[in-house]
Amino acid sequence: MISLPHQGHINPFIYLALKLASKGISVTFVHLESVHHKLLSKLGPQADPFSLARHSGLDIRYATISDGLPLEFDRDLHFEEHWGVILRDFPALVDEFVGEMMRSEPDFDYFLMTDTFYPWPPAIASKYNLVNVSFWTQTALTFALPYHWHLLEQNGHFPCKDDMEEEIDYIPGVEPINAKDVMSYLKESGQASIVTKAMAAALDAVKSADLILHNTMLELEPETLSALNEYQPNYAVGPLNFSKSLHSYTVSNSLRSEADCTDWLQYKPPNSVLYVSFGSFVHTTKQVIEELAHGLLLSGVDFVWVIRTGMLSCDDTDVLPEGFGDMIEGKGLVVPWCNQMSVLSNTAVGGFLSHCGWNSTLESMWCGVPMICYPIAYDQTANRKLVIEKWKFGVNLCDGESLDRVEIAEKIKGFLSGAYSENLRQEASKLKEAMEKVLEIDGSLDRTFDQFMEDLKAKMDAKTKF
Ligand code: UDP
Repeated sequence: MISLPHQGHINPFIYLALKLASKGISVTFVHLESVHHKLLSKLGPQADPFSLARHSGLDIRYATISDGLPLEFDRDLHFEEHWGVILRDFPALVDEFVGEMMRSEPDFDYFLMTDTFYPWPPAIASKYNLVNVSFWTQTALTFALPYHWHLLEQNGHFPCKDDMEEEIDYIPGVEPINAKDVMSYLKESGQASIVTKAMAAALDAVKSADLILHNTMLELEPETLSALNEYQPNYAVGPLNFSKSLHSYTVSNSLRSEADCTDWLQYKPPNSVLYVSFGSFVHTTKQVIEELAHGLLLSGVDFVWVIRTGMLSCDDTDVLPEGFGDMIEGKGLVVPWCNQMSVLSNTAVGGFLSHCGWNSTLESMWCGVPMICYPIAYDQTANRKLVIEKWKFGVNLCDGESLDRVEIAEKIKGFLSGAYSENLRQEASKLKEAMEKVLEIDGSLDRTFDQFMEDLKAKMDAKTKF
């Protein structure tokens, strides 16, 4: 199994590894060396995310592989260059790794499971005669749009211009979506960025995958998933990280050390605290942080705010406005990273100001916490649309072009108190209940997974006959 080297992809991959191993599959989970290096500084020299799960009886081997760049290369700061190497040099390293693994343990029947964002799996699967399973860690909506790239092109919606307000109403299984809500890599103007090129190649490559897994639930996106099934076998197996059957296994998925917010939260009244986080990956600007900081102060609400290292799109390490620490005394807690699930499930937390990353959205749903949405890039605007319009458990942070501290303060106050807020909370609770039902032992997630296992076995049997 090879995930993308980002927290939002690693998390669902790790739980998928646990699920596969709990079904008796021997898993070799591969982290990039750069990811392993981050784990080393967190977990110490024996860093292995699965050591405890292995003690509990799961056959999960852990391996690392170079992405073709030296460890000291700053992959976050030089994102484009990193991706250039991932596309150019990494496939040969994976090829070598897979070949060596198969030679060293020839008695196994192998299959390949990779992140759909990678364009190279078909070549490797075909070289080694492997069943090729692709795992899309995001929504079915954000899969279906680029999967129909040719339709977007035919209709003049690729690239989507930022000011385009047209409805995209021809993607099978997808409710009409305004061009402004599509993913940022479909909105490129001028020369296509490396992400756009990679996504175009990846969504083309996935068409030859044998089986496709999605980190979403059938109950959340039934029409989209059913339309996708017309082309290839798709299985909604998300969100595995809440699956009761996997709760007994302990894994280290977080790449950063987590600050404990429990003591700070324990004296706050129920539903009174706003949790603010923009995930593990996107950058923002100092102006945005400044406006948010003042908006939070003006709102008067209590908050926990994750300001991670490297969050700004520049080298500046001085992120917050001067004196902010003194101004929030007792009202706000700023941490570099936390255990998000533990914070969201704390009864004091009544709302999540989020960038709408897909894991964060699922986690908010699972904890029954309404969202106030501030998407920054990638799939986040499309996720916001689902949160606000389809699942109705969130609101938009600012409706204008840019952030405004007074508007932020008003939105936050209205969001956390009053009848409107109660309504959002009820919608969030309904989603939580629906998720719990799906995730029951022998519930629909387990049944879908069993179907996937059966189909996988059939595909593998067919391969070994040739
Ligand atoms: N996360 C965390 N602690 C933090 C902030 C984020 O554990 O302080 C986790 C969060 O629980 C989620 C992941 O990081 O599982 C972020 O994934 P998401 O898809 O929401 O956003 P991305 O990082 O991909 O933009």
